[in-house]
This record gives sequence, C-alpha cells and structure tokens, in this order.
Amino acid sequence: MYQPEPFKIKMVEPIRLLDRQEREQRMIEAGYNPFLLRSEHVYIDLLTDSGTGAMSDRQWAGLLLGDESYAGSRNFYHLEETVQELTGYRYVVPTHQGRGAEQIIIPYLVRKGRKYVLGNMHFDTTKAHIELAGALAVNFITPEALDTSTEYPFKGNFDLQAMERFIQEHGAESIAAIITTVTCNSVGGQPVSMANMRGAYALGKKYNIPVIIDSARFAENAYFIKQREAGYGQRSIPEIVREMFSYGDALTMSAKKDGLVNIGGLLAVKEDEELFRACQALVVPYEGFPTYGGLAGRDMEALALGLKEVVQEDYLRQRISQVEFLGRQLLDAGVPVQAPIGGHAVFVDVGRILPEMPKTQYPAHAFAVALYLESGIRAVEIGSLLYGRDPQTGEDGLADLELLRLTIPRRTYTDNHMRYIADSMLKVCAQKDKIKGVAFEYEPPILRHFTARFRLVD
Ligand SMILES: *Cc1c(COP(=O)(O)O)cnc(C)c1O
Repeated sequence: MYQPEPFKIKMVEPIRLLDRQEREQRMIEAGYNPFLLRSEHVYIDLLTDSGTGAMSDRQWAGLLLGDESYAGSRNFYHLEETVQELTGYRYVVPTHQGRGAEQIIIPYLVRKGRKYVLGNMHFDTTKAHIELAGALAVNFITPEALDTSTEYPFKGNFDLQAMERFIQEHGAESIAAIITTVTCNSVGGQPVSMANMRGAYALGKKYNIPVIIDSARFAENAYFIKQREAGYGQRSIPEIVREMFSYGDALTMSAKKDGLVNIGGLLAVKEDEELFRACQALVVPYEGFPTYGGLAGRDMEALALGLKEVVQEDYLRQRISQVEFLGRQLLDAGVPVQAPIGGHAVFVDVGRILPEMPKTQYPAHAFAVALYLESGIRAVEIGSLLYGRDPQTGEDGLADLELLRLTIPRRTYTDNHMRYIADSMLKVCAQKDKIKGVAFEYEPPILRHFTARFRLVD
C-alpha cells in the first residue's frame, strides 16, 4: 500500500510539538478556533493543501533565473510554452492566484442577461465571483457523491441529464458558462471521469455554452482517470491531461495546488480570440500587465517548472497513495472516513463519531479542537460552522454532514507524520466521550469560521 517518496530531503524546516499545557494555553488564546492559532504553535498543519507544498531544488534554482522586466519577461515565455504544451491552449495569462483568474473571466461570461453558471460543484471563491457578477451558481453533482460511505470511482461527476434538463427549461441563452471543476474540491477532492468531462463539453457545444475547466487539481484528476477509467491505464499522464483540457474552451487554475508553487494562478483560452482579448484587457486593471499578471518573473519560472514536475507519474503515485495511506489507517481502525479517499485530503465523518452532540455545538470543530490539544495537529471543520446560518431565518446547524478535513500538503510531510496523525486521531476517538461542544463567544456575520471565538460547553 505505501509508496516510498520519489525524492530525498535537501533542506529541513524544524517543527516543534509544544507540551500539553502550552497547547491548552494557546488554544484558549485562540478562542478555541484553530484558524486563530499561530502556525509556529502547530506541529503538523493540515488546514489546507493550497500554497503549502514544498518546491523542488530545480524550482528554487529557477527563482534565481527570474527576469523581473515589466513587460516581456523571459519567464513568461517559458510559462506560456509550458502551458501551451500541457493543455493545447493557445492563449495564456498569468494571475496572482486562482481567484485572480476568476475575477477576470467570470464577469465577462456573465453578461447580457446570462443568469446561471452551471457546475459539478462550484468552489467557494468561484461561487462568490459568480454571485458578485450578478448570476446564480447552480450545482449538478452526481447523487452518489452525497453518500460518503459508498465506493464510487468518480464522485466528482456531473449529473449530465439533470444539467441538460435545466438548460432546456431555462433556455440556453440564460446560461453564461459550464464550469467543470477537477478534481471536485467541494465534494472532497473526488475526480471527474473523462467520459463525464466529454459529456459536459458535448452539452456546451450542443447549446453553444462555453465550458471552463477549474483546474486546480488537474494532475490528481488525471492520475485517478489512469487508475480507474477503462481505456486509460496505458496512457501517459500528459496524454490524459491533454485530452481533459480538450473538453474545455478556457481554464482557470489555482497554481497553489497542482502548480506546486506557494503563490500563482493561470487563465488560458483554447482558441477563442475574442474571449482572450476581453480577458487580456481586464487583466491589466485587476492583476497587472499581461506578461506578468500579478506574479514576479521568478514566480512564473517556478510555476513553469512545477507544471512539468506535477505530471510525472512517480510524483503522483506517491502523492495519491500517501493520502490513501492515511485514510486506510483510519478506515482499518473503524473511523468513518469518506469513501473512496480523495486526492488531497481525508474527510472524517465526525457526525457519525459524535452522533449525540447537537449540530449547533459544531461537532467537527469540537473534534478539531480536541485533536490539537491531543497532538498539536491543526485540521479544519467542513460542516455547520462553515455552512453558516440561513440568511432569512437565522437558523443554524444546517449542513448535511459534519466533516473534519485532514488536508495533506504536497511533498511536505513524510509517511511517519501520516502515522502520527492516524495514531492521534485514534486517541481522540478513544476518548470521544470527553469531547466538549463549543458555543460562540463572538460570531462574525459572514465567513464566521475564520474569525469566530468560542467557549467549551459542558
Ligand atoms: C483553491 C481553489 C480556487 C481558488 O484559488 P486561489 O488560488 O485560492 O485563489 C478555485 N477553485 C478551486 C477548485 C480551488 O481548489
């Protein structure tokens, strides 16, 4: 099951486990909200896989080759060629991160009364940009995705029939775009099959609707296709990636995930010159001149190199199997974990571990607090706290699932860290009767999970 790392370590960053008493003190200071901990007080940080990965020696060397010219930097041309070869898309615009690409393309697509943007499951910032542009984000995720206990190989898939019905009912002219998110972050990093991507693109062609690929984890998706989809086992990852992108008209990318960099993003357009010109005009006021788009020359160099490394199969094999390795240890010990295990994180179904705790005491958040106190590990709630209140009624405790996300940064922690995480999870589970729910001391009106403060309830 385990897959040794295809790299050795040249530089280390010390991390320190505070003693129990100090962890308690730090958690009190943070108002029982792991988001408010200082990272130096965290031993293993599983908050996110975004921008938290390790660069290779080649990428670090690439930083020294940064050409910091305002216009026409050679690193831009290296990045442009790399993206063209990877995706087959002609036009490439760098952006400061994924949402930088979204803020340019989404308002352009949502114009002239186009009210809806359809997706398998929109990511939060994508949804926010759709709504800011005055449209509605509608999800058509396959029903299998909503049952965390069933094995289904492509839980990121669209329900294509439901999406086509929607297009027919509302009229194709009212649809601004279809966004295919690979892997589908909001349902747990679950992949989309090639057949389903092809189907979504065919619908786009049939009804003359542009298809955008939200491609933060494109390489992880390609690896799952290779492993799970008939006919792709013998194909190389770059071939699969090329075919995936052929089922889109443009892409947005948060390069902080599969770009293997700490900051960066991309917008690319396959061949529609009008769309590209419109985006190119908007990138100037929002991000910067079109050959840097909010990035330093050195950042573009690191990204060009990262995009080449991420499609190497030995990298992906270890990446995906490390996440699986953690998930398996939990599953084998009887901890309820979302199946199959996703590409970038293990989702623990805390609702099933603490069934008695009211949802308004945020069981998965309470579990995250207990996990930090036990082990110095920082994880994040994906449940009723994140979901927020009903804006009309103020009702709380509404999420379908109370999940704890253990998000694994790329090339950052070893399998021994995974063992420690699994052991710590089991210790917390063994003392689950001692876990106390939380109640607000301070509840911000929007995006409350980031800055809220809590007390423990008895
Ligand atoms: C992270 C992410 C984004 C936003 O990208 P940022 O780089 O954080 O701005 C968009 N879509 C998906 C699927 C993501 O995972």
